Amino acid sequence: MSLIVQKYGGSSVADSDSIKRVAKRIISTKKAGNDVAVVVSAMGDTTDDLIDQAMDIDSNPPAREMDMLMTAGERISMSLLAMAIHAQGDRAYSFTGSQAGFVTDARYGAAHIRSVKPQRVARALSKGNVGIVAGFQGVSTEGDATTLGRGGSDTSAVALAVALGADVCEIYTDVDGVFTADPRIVPTARRIPTLSYDEMMEMAAAGTKVLALRCVEYARRFSMPLHVRSSFSHRPGTLILPQDVNPSRIPNV
Ligand code: ADP
Ligand code: ASP
Ligand code: MG
Repeated sequence: MSLIVQKYGGSSVADSDSIKRVAKRIISTKKAGNDVAVVVSAMGDTTDDLIDQAMDIDSNPPAREMDMLMTAGERISMSLLAMAIHAQGDRAYSFTGSQAGFVTDARYGAAHIRSVKPQRVARALSKGNVGIVAGFQGVSTEGDATTLGRGGSDTSAVALAVALGADVCEIYTDVDGVFTADPRIVPTARRIPTLSYDEMMEMAAAGTKVLALRCVEYARRFSMPLHVRSSFSHRPGTLILPQDVNPSRIPNV
């Protein structure tokens, strides 16, 4: 049995139908004989909308309150996704960053992960449930809600995968993987089947939005295999692996 962490970005959970589609995919991964832990982003443009709402009220909001507000987006998607899994006959429990044991420093809006102790998620998995964790958020050592910076759910997913000892961290998005250029802008861009961590870090540092830079750094540090793929298709994606790992050993490809 493999343990798979699946991260679904905002584009993959933008509305109720998308959440139901993602629930179906999670259940089928589980039915194939895997344990599945999920990290989810806020639905669609929720985070941008929350920022706009804050700016309407205070053009210079306190950073602590801003992080408190931003963490609300992922609470909505995680609980709706747990309900969608329940409605399809399986069991899932959602956890905030704090409940999932993500402790960070207090740099609001750009917090760094200090430790991840996801005992509650591990317990949910051991009882045959899906564990769903809110991406992009943690709790400071003082007990305040914090966020990891825009696009931070990618980093949450890798950190959870490392802490749980997962076999692979799958990053589900709205394109088929990592391409030679942004496929939405360059129609002739080609999907890259496999990449090294260093190659992916160069792309992320150059602004390639599909993976957050810190997520790739974290994955490289702990040799966590990444699989970037589409939640809208079953086509092959992009594997980002340590040099010595054979792609055929990665589960759920
Ligand atoms: P998510 O909502 O899943 O987190 P993001 O918007 O953060 O998704 O990242 C996916 C987007 O990254 C794609 O829709 C694509 O437009 C963009 N992108 C930019 N450069 C690339 C690239 N080289 N390969 C793949 N996607 C890219
Ligand atoms: N919801 C957050 C953002 O929009 C985190 C993420 O999607 O990764 O930046
Ligand atoms: Mg993203």
